[in-house]
Amino acid sequence: MTNLAKKQPTQVKHVAQRTCVVCRQVKEKRALIRLVRTPESNVEIDIAGKKKGRGAYLCRDWACWESGLKGKQLEHALRKHIATENREQLVTCARNLLKGVSQ
Ligand SMILES: [Zn+2]
Repeated sequence: MTNLAKKQPTQVKHVAQRTCVVCRQVKEKRALIRLVRTPESNVEIDIAGKKKGRGAYLCRDWACWESGLKGKQLEHALRKHIATENREQLVTCARNLLKGVSQ
């Protein structure tokens, strides 16, 4: 007799959840990518999610990044105008980051 086939009881575990600023879907924190407004007033991708500053979350989905960076949602969430140069930097980073994730 083993207990292996026994169903594990469902544990109610607290999982940190965040909302994507573009599609408004609530997901586990680790399923999203954090962006942070640094004290130097740049917007950076915060992979570890530990940087200080105002943060916003986006899905690991290019569609959300594209519309977030093109539109105003990200700027709105970070309460910061994102300079063209900074925006391009983010696009490049995001493309690298999302490579092979959903295509
Ligand atoms: Zn999204």
